[in-house]
Amino acid sequence: MRVFRAAAEITAWVATQRAQGETIALVPTMGFLHQGHLSLVELAKRHASVVITYIFVNPAQFNDPKDLEKYPRDEVRDTTLLESVGTSALFVPPLSEIYPPGYTTFVDVGGVSEPLEGAHRPGHFRGVATVLSLFFNIIRPDVAVFGEKDFQQLRVIERFVKDLHFGVRIIRAPLVREADGLALSSRNVRLSPEERGAALSLSRSLTIAKAAVAAGERHASALRAMIEQELAKQPLVQVEYVAIASEEDLLPVDIVSEGSRALIAAFVGNTRLIDTMAL
Ligand code: AMP
Repeated sequence: MRVFRAAAEITAWVATQRAQGETIALVPTMGFLHQGHLSLVELAKRHASVVITYIFVNPAQFNDPKDLEKYPRDEVRDTTLLESVGTSALFVPPLSEIYPPGYTTFVDVGGVSEPLEGAHRPGHFRGVATVLSLFFNIIRPDVAVFGEKDFQQLRVIERFVKDLHFGVRIIRAPLVREADGLALSSRNVRLSPEERGAALSLSRSLTIAKAAVAAGERHASALRAMIEQELAKQPLVQVEYVAIASEEDLLPVDIVSEGSRALIAAFVGNTRLIDTMAL
């Protein structure tokens, strides 16, 4: 696996790969990798001959400076994991390579970026869209793979890639969970054993709602109440939002239909977690 730190070097390397007829997939990450990230690499390999992962903890998408400071990092372990799944190249740029002094350009996505995460994390999606625009221009991939774990992020990316004609095909990867249901997240390492136990209520409440839909319940208000009730049993869980929304625009629906999804954001102790499930 090639490791690059300079943007100009990976741009040049990708150009040589392309000249040899290779196709390029990009898997963006913030590192501290887990099976969810590795499943994205596996999926990327099915769509392109060269798979590039980047690790960049993007300050522009952290609305909470403490969250940025506490974000876990382990480049050595990440490198070994990426090599083990056959990643072609890893790009780990320093901050100054992506945001050099004097940097002032940002990408603001309207509509789908406004509710839910957009409302609770001001500037978050602006940071996401900006950094991805930079990486898309540096690497110019044919396809890029993103997890449904961050479902709203996925929709925001699909939107701005289309609006700005980036010409990158966006591939959706299914959410990967632990055996007991906990959605894999780099932030899970911050949970104490007790908090981890409480965090299971997120996936459990979503499973309860999904089962209710399968049994015929269609009212979003009833489904939201079920989820909130299950989460309320855990004193360590502080809910930010529970939403039953359309996958298209992430706006709330009254009646669940094809393309409706439940989304949760909650603090478990001091750690903010999100989870989601198609209904
Ligand atoms: P992150 O490093 O958290 O920015 O995530 C990088 C990519 O991995 C994003 O596309 C996420 O949606 C995806 N991802 C993170 N956790 C999971 C998971 N449990 N299952 C599937 N994809 C995930």
